[in-house]
Amino acid sequence: MNVPPIPTNEADRLAALRSLQILDTEPEERFDCITRIAQRAFHVPMALVSLVDAERQWFKSHQGLCACETSRDISFCGHAILNDIPLIVPNALNDPRFADNPLVLGDPNIRFYAGMPLKVLSTYRVGTLCLIDRNPRSFSRNETLLLHDLAQLAEQELAAGKTSLLVELQQRNQEMQLLSDLSDFLQASLTLTESFEVISQLMGSLFPSCSGGVFIICASRNRVEQGTVWGPHLHSVSEFAPHACWSLRRGSFHVIRPERMALKCGHVLDDPSVAATLCIPMIAQGETLGLFFLSSPNPDALTSAKQQLAHTVAEQIALTLANLNLRATLQNQSIRDPLTGLYNRHYFEETLQREIARAQAKQTEIGVIMVDIDHFKQFNDTYGQGTGDLVMQAIGKLLREQVWGVDIACRYGGEELTVILPDTTLEKAQAKANEIREAISLLKVPFHGKMVQQIHASLGVAGFPKHGNNRITLLQTAIAALHRAKGNGRNQVILAP
Ligand code: GH3
Ligand code: MG
Ligand code: MG
Repeated sequence: MNVPPIPTNEADRLAALRSLQILDTEPEERFDCITRIAQRAFHVPMALVSLVDAERQWFKSHQGLCACETSRDISFCGHAILNDIPLIVPNALNDPRFADNPLVLGDPNIRFYAGMPLKVLSTYRVGTLCLIDRNPRSFSRNETLLLHDLAQLAEQELAAGKTSLLVELQQRNQEMQLLSDLSDFLQASLTLTESFEVISQLMGSLFPSCSGGVFIICASRNRVEQGTVWGPHLHSVSEFAPHACWSLRRGSFHVIRPERMALKCGHVLDDPSVAATLCIPMIAQGETLGLFFLSSPNPDALTSAKQQLAHTVAEQIALTLANLNLRATLQNQSIRDPLTGLYNRHYFEETLQREIARAQAKQTEIGVIMVDIDHFKQFNDTYGQGTGDLVMQAIGKLLREQVWGVDIACRYGGEELTVILPDTTLEKAQAKANEIREAISLLKVPFHGKMVQQIHASLGVAGFPKHGNNRITLLQTAIAALHRAKGNGRNQVILAP
């Protein structure tokens, strides 16, 4: 038996074969169709598209033969790729190259072999279209011509695969470029609105024939709300509970494609035109921030490559959301008092200054309330500093609930608090101060299974422009009114004269 010699251009030949990226891929109808025609047209039990790799021959298509590869050393095709003309072996037993070949002496008992080399780039013989029979036979000139034509079809399919590979590579390149743009623009986004605009602009190009949206889990964590959407039809409701999405429930992606039986998410619309959907939870630093959603009427739109891309995009967006949240938290920390959650004194002074300028320009009024908790030193002595802190926390929460919209509540220092009421008359400010006083006196703070004693506060009210046209005099007037409230017996509101 002769081991097939190695062609002189072997290294380039192997490179050409591997560039096809076809070895060890799944069977494909476009090749199976050719081998089936060959099997029937030539009345042979076996017809193969064989590709000769470094150590083996691997069959892209095999009719009548179970094996999908054999060693190159014993292959007939290893000989067939040495020339441009077909290798015809009418009876292997009579051919010294093959007479003692194990494929001849044993299974599949080859007697007749006809192999037409398959070329790529018009140069490299990467394999054959070959026919095998267990009986010796002759091969006519007409049969050779037919085999030649079929081999050409197989060559075209090999080349087409390479073309689609090229197209795919170009697509990947474009996706990488878009991903890098996405990353750059998201990093430069200063607000959520800006980042949403970037996302909706780029997603159409990254996921053509898909619609989709980024959904955000709101702070209370009981609702998921639409942040931004793109594409012609969003196949999801715009607001839903987190448990309406399987991916949010399971913390892992959820895909529905025609070939995959899967449970539809509750937030996905019942629309027969939806053929594929993909939900990916957006997780950053261990926290689920929202959902990345894609849907398409095209069942092939969400290939595994596109799903992989969607994962990368979702990760990128999650990171941006986390950064923007962090930025907002840091900004909050610099203007908020950590114990009460109220704005701090620095923010109070800045805001009062700004509001005075605005009120001057608009010719409107401002109410300023100064609050001081009554006998708080005594309270601390009775209940301890820790309980005093809890009371301050509770008062902070109360003020955040009572004061909202354009009104601003601050911790001025210690147990002293202030409220700025833009566009408010003195009478209304006084009424608001009374509401606050009453709410404080109704406050219930637990202490060792009981409630602490009633808490009271004294309040002084002043207003712009009546009591001054600058921050300091306005504040001094409010403090003076507060002192009068203390002097009058506490637990009351005094309006500056
Ligand atoms: P009054 O205002 O009615 O004249 O009496 P007071 O006891 O409240 O007197 P003052 O305003 O002079 O004292 C405030 C006390 O509040 C002093 C301080 O120990 C206490 N205090 C201020 N801030 C806090 C806080 O954050 N936590 C606790 N536990 N105590 C605080
Ligand atoms: Mg005080
Ligand atoms: Mg006090």
